[in-house]
Amino acid sequence: MDEEQREGTERLRQIVAGMKRGVFFGGAGVSTESGIPDFRSQDGLYRQKYKYPPETILSRTFFDRHTAEFFAFYRDKMLCLSAEPNAAHKKLARWEAEGKLAAVVTQNIDGLHQKAGSRRVFELHGSVLRNFCMDCGRSYPVSAVAEGTGIPRCACGGVIKPDVVLYEEPLDAATLEGAVRAIRAADVLIVGGTSLNVYPAAGLIDYFEGDRLVVVNRGAPARAVPGCLFVNGKIGEVFSAL
Ligand code: NAD
Ligand code: ZN
Repeated sequence: MDEEQREGTERLRQIVAGMKRGVFFGGAGVSTESGIPDFRSQDGLYRQKYKYPPETILSRTFFDRHTAEFFAFYRDKMLCLSAEPNAAHKKLARWEAEGKLAAVVTQNIDGLHQKAGSRRVFELHGSVLRNFCMDCGRSYPVSAVAEGTGIPRCACGGVIKPDVVLYEEPLDAATLEGAVRAIRAADVLIVGGTSLNVYPAAGLIDYFEGDRLVVVNRGAPARAVPGCLFVNGKIGEVFSAL
């Protein structure tokens, strides 16, 4: 850690000490230290070469028109079922247990916050762990999608679709409402591991009405966050130093 990081971490420590109903808003950068690639970092999925860009493959149109190709990419790049929570996930779960953190709002679909012990988690983009038949609605564990090749099928013949929000699809209204309510009521908002590029998710931080706003990220997010304390670094490293 350099001097600037140490100073930022110390200020964050003081903020967390007084935190009573904090909210954490995070993205793919929270899980890179667990070995799951994000989208926009140096080794993120957007820098890798595919026949189609990831935004295209992860769109509803592509899912409907090229279903088998979608699942090949999805199994290969989006499912990381052996990943374990890192220090950031664990620290957030601890703050919740201590009564300091009211909620985690995440753009991630990997389920690692819950695996670490967090209970109040708003998954804006859904979860790979939930899967439903598009015809009869029957629910399936992730193994039904992960195992096998080709298009995963229900006993009724319908396609099993992961409960993740694809580009062009709306966010779940109840999840969005819960996230907004938590952010509005927060005394501290910590934003971490997100480029703040994906809307409407990135716009949620505008609902924060408090004055202790912190960003912990490797590099500044694409969208400026005025008035924040910015700690430039790896979130697992920074949080484990708290
Ligand atoms: P993003 O890839 O656009 O941005 C990630 C940000 O995190 C970047 O600014 C990067 O510099 C930073 N970062 C990377 N590793 C970090 C670390 N260890 N500590 C601190 N910062 C770090 O991700 P996004 O903003 O979440 O938006 C992309 C979309 O990707 C989201 O909608 C999400 O659903 C999806 N996604 C999810 C997963 C997952 O579930 N783990 C993985 C890839 C993508
Ligand atoms: Zn079915």
